[in-house]
Amino acid sequence: MTHKLPELPYSYDALEPYIDAQTMEIHHSKHHQAYVNNYNNAIKGTELEGQDLEEVFKSIANQSAAIRNNGGGIFNHNFFWEIMGPSGSGSPKGKLLDDIKSTFGSFEAFKEAFGNAAVTRFGSGWAWLVVNNGKLVVTSTPNQDNTLMDVADVQGTPIIGLDVWEHAYYLKYQNRRPDYVSNFWNVINWDYVEGLYEK
Ligand code: MN
Repeated sequence: MTHKLPELPYSYDALEPYIDAQTMEIHHSKHHQAYVNNYNNAIKGTELEGQDLEEVFKSIANQSAAIRNNGGGIFNHNFFWEIMGPSGSGSPKGKLLDDIKSTFGSFEAFKEAFGNAAVTRFGSGWAWLVVNNGKLVVTSTPNQDNTLMDVADVQGTPIIGLDVWEHAYYLKYQNRRPDYVSNFWNVINWDYVEGLYEK
């Protein structure tokens, strides 16, 4: 099985003005494509060729850095594009909203906890909202790790992920990661996230 770069589910300028078209184009067509190419090269001729990424992540501690970094890079970006959209609906509803309120106190308190995870992740990485044994948990991972990997401090099924690598925001926001993080709330496709949660 060879991994492929997926089409974006919207145009490069669809998340303007919060995420600019040039950043989206470079991020998708160069960075994400590179993870795909490097992973395909790293698994060529190995037993990993036939495996889903989620299967590989379960024992990623046993794999090379190339497989961990690029496999994570493919999965994380596939996921990231899907949980965003041009008509961010502002806030979740239904069971997800109820459970966010009962877990974090309020939607605002959840946004603060998630934003804090995103801003304080040192260097490159990701902030996540995951479901761990039925509970909502905010966490972050370094580099291209994610919470499906056996090496993650906090494991769980991701329902929101935010890329906080500089390549995700530097053209528009330069060093202002907090501004990028606070604008992320404008582009979340909550209908899609609710679907992941209720699965
Ligand atoms: Mn990225």
